[in-house]
Amino acid sequence: MAIYDPTKRPADSFDTHTHLNDDVFWHDVAAYWARAREHRIVEMNIVGYDAVGNERAIEIAHEFEGVHAIVGWQPEDINGFGDTELATLRAQLQDDAVIGIGETGLDYYWDTTTPADQKAAFQKHLDLAKEFKLPVTVHARDAFDDVYEMLKANDVAQFGGVMHSFAGNPEQAQRFLDLGMYISFSGIATFKNAKEVQAALQIVPLDRLLVETDAPYLAPVPMRGKQNEPMFVRYTIQNLADQLGMEYNELANITRENAHRLWHLG
Ligand SMILES: [Zn+2]
Repeated sequence: MAIYDPTKRPADSFDTHTHLNDDVFWHDVAAYWARAREHRIVEMNIVGYDAVGNERAIEIAHEFEGVHAIVGWQPEDINGFGDTELATLRAQLQDDAVIGIGETGLDYYWDTTTPADQKAAFQKHLDLAKEFKLPVTVHARDAFDDVYEMLKANDVAQFGGVMHSFAGNPEQAQRFLDLGMYISFSGIATFKNAKEVQAALQIVPLDRLLVETDAPYLAPVPMRGKQNEPMFVRYTIQNLADQLGMEYNELANITRENAHRLWHLG
């Protein structure tokens, strides 16, 4: 497989899910942002997960060009998501840098919260998505069936959404596509042993495909095991383009257009 060639001028691309709001980046956001821009990663979504993560996402989005914020409470952290936090989240959704809700969803891998509590919090996020007509960024781990049922019951197509860092099989991908959702692939889809995820990539229509780093986690091949950062989305784009028999620039353009459509960006 070809790896990304930095001597060729790449098309502008979009990392649709990254966490420059994480502690590992927080004191050096400008450097990570600038490095990404050097490689023409000209847009990124900073995705929140708790009170501090959400505040920082908005702050970064206001400070840096091409950066958008997505705010919400991830399922592992919803013990801290009470009425006050819900009110704060509601206020944050009115900020013009905020383009979506998330990450939200269900994660039964961790046992810090119960499935019932996670579902209640996910439902509050879906209600906000309906009210504000904002797309949801959905995290699902060991919980595909319950996530599917809730997205279906809430008619997710009304406001739109993405299955982020998709790690399921083709049959699961198809169910979410049938609900009108986008599927976003991270470094996981570049791992040699991720055969099911790679098979899922093959069935996603090109107009529903997104790419992301989910940095600082899940660095793509050939950086696997290193600390991930937005700049590395270029490796993911190149790897997925190879798997799809496409050129880097073609896939970069398509996934950026898709992101613009989903998040209503000009
Ligand atoms: Zn994430």
